[in-house]
Amino acid sequence: MVDKVFITGASGFIAQHIVKLFISNGYYVIGTVRSADKGEKLKANLKSNNFKYEIVPDITAEGAFNEALKSNPNIKYLLHTASPFTYDTTDPEHDLIIPAIKGTENILNSVYEFQPSIEKVVITSSDAAIYSADDEQNSSLSFNEQSWNDISYRDSLKNAVSAYYGAKSFAEKLSWKFLEEKKPNFKLISVNPVYVFGPQAFLNEVKPTLNVSNELIHNLIKIGPNDSFDNDKGGFIDVRDVAKAHLYAIEKEELIGKRVFMTNGHFSVQMMLDIINEKFPQLKSKIPTGTPGSGPTDIKTLATVDNTQTRNLLKFEFISLDKIVTDTIQQVYDAKAKL
Ligand code: NDP
Repeated sequence: MVDKVFITGASGFIAQHIVKLFISNGYYVIGTVRSADKGEKLKANLKSNNFKYEIVPDITAEGAFNEALKSNPNIKYLLHTASPFTYDTTDPEHDLIIPAIKGTENILNSVYEFQPSIEKVVITSSDAAIYSADDEQNSSLSFNEQSWNDISYRDSLKNAVSAYYGAKSFAEKLSWKFLEEKKPNFKLISVNPVYVFGPQAFLNEVKPTLNVSNELIHNLIKIGPNDSFDNDKGGFIDVRDVAKAHLYAIEKEELIGKRVFMTNGHFSVQMMLDIINEKFPQLKSKIPTGTPGSGPTDIKTLATVDNTQTRNLLKFEFISLDKIVTDTIQQVYDAKAKL
C-alpha cells in the first residue's frame, strides 16, 4: 500500500518542492491550501494521481485541520510547513506570531484527536528558532542544533523581524513541549533552515515578485546599475536540499527527535551580485556591481554556526551558493522566454 503523507501549506515555495519530491518517491500526498484556485494550480503542475488537496482557509481558526484530517483516514506521516513568512506587516503579532503558534497548536491537536496512528510529524521550523535576529549578527557568538532563540513574547513584538524570529521559536518550542506533555504516538523531527533560496518547483509563470527569501536574489536583476541595495547577510541553503531533508526526516530513523539545522554557510547580497555579474555577462552595465569581492569581509560579522551533527546524519552534499544563485536567475529568464 502507498504511504499517505499530509502536508500543510502545500502551495508554499518550499512545500511545492516537498510535495513534488514525496510524489516522485512513491508517496500519496494530501496537501492543504488556502483556496481551490491554489489547489487546482498545484494539481495541474504536479500531473499526478497521487495528489489531492484539502482547503484550509485559515490555520489560526479553531479546529482548522479537523475536517481535513477526519476525512482522510490512514495517514502515516504529517509535515507542517504552513506558517507566514513576511516582513511586510504593520501588525506582526496578528500576521506572524498568532498564525505560527495557533497553526502549530491546531495541527498537533488534530493529529492527537483524529489521527492518533500517525507515526511521524515533521515541523518546518527555522534558524529563527536557534538564534535571535540580533544574535545571528554577533560574531562573538556560536550556535548549533542544541541552541535556542529565547526571545520573550514581549520582545518579539518590537518589529516584524523580531516577530518572525519569535513566532518560529514559540511554534517549535510548543511542538517539543506537546510531545513531552501529551506523549502522543508520533515521533517528532524539526527541520530548521536558514534563508532558503533556489528555483521554483514549477516553471509556469513569470512572477513580478518571488517569495521573501528569493526576492533578495531576484531584486538584483530588477534594479539599475546606479541603484543602491541592502547588503543583507545570513545563512543560505537550497530549497531542493531543504525538501530532501524533509524526506529524510520521514525515512531515516536516526533523525527521530532531532533538529535538522539546514545551512551551507554564509552569504552577503554582494556575494550574490558577484555571482550574477560573472554568470550573466549580458547584464553588464544593467545591474549594479557594488563592491566586488567584499563578500568574505561582509560575513565576518556574523555568528559562527556549526551543523556538523546535521551533515553527519544527512550524509549528502549541500548545493553551493554559486549554483543556487545561477539556477534561480536562470529560471527567471527561462520563464520569460518560454511563457
Ligand atoms: P511561503 O510563503 O511560500 O509558504 C508559506 C505557506 O504557509 C504557504 O503555503 C502559505 O499559504 C501558508 N500560510 C501562511 N500563512 C497562512 C495562514 N494564516 N493560513 C493558512 N496558510 C498560511 O514561504 P516558504 O515556503 O518560504 O516557507 C515555508 C515554511 O518554511 C514556513 O514555515 C517558514 O517559516 C519556513 N522557513 C522559510 C525560510 C525561507 O527562507 N523561505 C527559512 C526558514 C524557514 P499561501 O500559499 O496561500 O500563501
